[in-house]
Amino acid sequence: MSESDLREAICWQAASMFARGLTGGASGNISARTEDGGLLVTPTGASFGKLDPARLSRFDPRGNHIAGDKPTKEMNLHAAFYETRSKAGAVVHLHSSHAVAWSMMPEAEADNLLPPLTAYSVMRLGKVQLLPFFVPGDPAMGDAVRGLAGRRSAVVLANHGPVVAAKDLEAAVYAMEELEETAKLALLLRGAHPKMLTPDQVRQVVTKFDVEWD
Ligand code: ZN
Repeated sequence: MSESDLREAICWQAASMFARGLTGGASGNISARTEDGGLLVTPTGASFGKLDPARLSRFDPRGNHIAGDKPTKEMNLHAAFYETRSKAGAVVHLHSSHAVAWSMMPEAEADNLLPPLTAYSVMRLGKVQLLPFFVPGDPAMGDAVRGLAGRRSAVVLANHGPVVAAKDLEAAVYAMEELEETAKLALLLRGAHPKMLTPDQVRQVVTKFDVEWD
């Protein structure tokens, strides 16, 4: 994808998520790899509802900020995914309500946060890791992602929000939507003893679609 198309796509996807109430105010941030190996990143303090393609932060392949507005304060979180997952082409972070709510539930498992409710959440997300709470801007947030050594494409920062990496922008947004919807289902079904996927059904999905699970 050309850089100008990627700029438009980032702003369009952000506006779409904002319009659907997936992240409000100036919360949330997106980064995506450019063809030259650099990055486009949403600026600090910018609302997903009105991003300007021309003002996105631009990084060169060596990680130097070369153009556009100052990047998000959560840049370290994005960098941690690119450093540990060589195939990552985009990272999306939101403050979406259902994922945040589920991160606080006592039954949420740290190493497999979402219950096995649908095949698509297993396929698109693999195991989702719950990370602890960090004060915004704390570099330890990125270190926690680095500590996973590239084993997880999706994490949720407790009492804060989800972060998803994928091969490209569209895949990252779709996976993020799956995460938020699955957390919503988990909350809807809480205490109702739903019939979840069995371990064997999960294993079949993991095997058939080559999901990162172990
Ligand atoms: Zn955040």
